[in-house]
Amino acid sequence: MTLLYYDQRFLEHDTGNHPECAERLRQIVSLLDSRGLANRCLRPSWPQIERRDLVTLHSESHLALLEQIAAHGGGRVDPDTVVSSSSVDIAKLAAGAVTDAVRRVLTDEDSNALCLVRPPGHHALAERAMGFCLLNNVALGAQAALQAGVERVLIVDWDVHHGNGTQAIFYDDPRVGYFSVHRWPFYPGTGSAEETGTGDGLGTTSNVPLEFGISRRDYLATVQSELEDFADRIQPELVLVSAGFDSHRYDPVGSLGLEEEDFSRLTTMIKDIAKSHARGRIVSVLEGGYNPPVLAECVATHLECLLR
Ligand SMILES: [Zn+2]
Repeated sequence: MTLLYYDQRFLEHDTGNHPECAERLRQIVSLLDSRGLANRCLRPSWPQIERRDLVTLHSESHLALLEQIAAHGGGRVDPDTVVSSSSVDIAKLAAGAVTDAVRRVLTDEDSNALCLVRPPGHHALAERAMGFCLLNNVALGAQAALQAGVERVLIVDWDVHHGNGTQAIFYDDPRVGYFSVHRWPFYPGTGSAEETGTGDGLGTTSNVPLEFGISRRDYLATVQSELEDFADRIQPELVLVSAGFDSHRYDPVGSLGLEEEDFSRLTTMIKDIAKSHARGRIVSVLEGGYNPPVLAECVATHLECLLR
């Protein structure tokens, strides 16, 4: 089975007329229900992430600013990034889903989990929100794994945008391998192939920047070979996925020409790597994807493959 994390409260992160909207999750959940996929999953309940777990990764000033904006009824924390009155609680629930999923997968409650959360996380830096992201969900998940005694984690980020926040958080940390495939040149501007880590973390970051117009075949072949090599070097005990679906050809924000079925191929690659190195342990976390019906189909494809 798969642990499926979703809560109606994620719809309460009110971004107004913004591509990262509640409708994204509404359509995903409705499709997973109608296809009978949600019924094939276990549905844990979980708490918000605790403050002591947040502050080991995010700065107090970052959290204080978010809380202050929320307490004043909401606003924007950067030009792209909305905080509504309930957004901080929702973001803590989203991060809590990922850390709970990590703990359950590490205790063999299930081999894999899919966290259908919002707001997304991979642009969030330790010190500030950015690019629709308030808290870095996947990074908090990696940190929970390290705290649970895992020595090496692999984060695979296939969102069309480079996960600058996740990369920065673990740039000098050899325990967390960060692999990103993304459109290039593109927002947020980081993620060149030369960015490979620093200090003790040198070689534990791998960026695969790809230009718009690359064929699907070349995209998949490149990811497969680069990711296998990287995973062999990292030898992860757990694989986390920053699963963004904005590289789909019909995505209005991103697009790198992919089709739904390509996410099945990507998921299979992750499963193979997790099976080779990590006893099959995968925690997948929703990031981007801004065409709601297309996003829903892509997530269904991803979950079907996880369940297989
Ligand atoms: Zn994205």
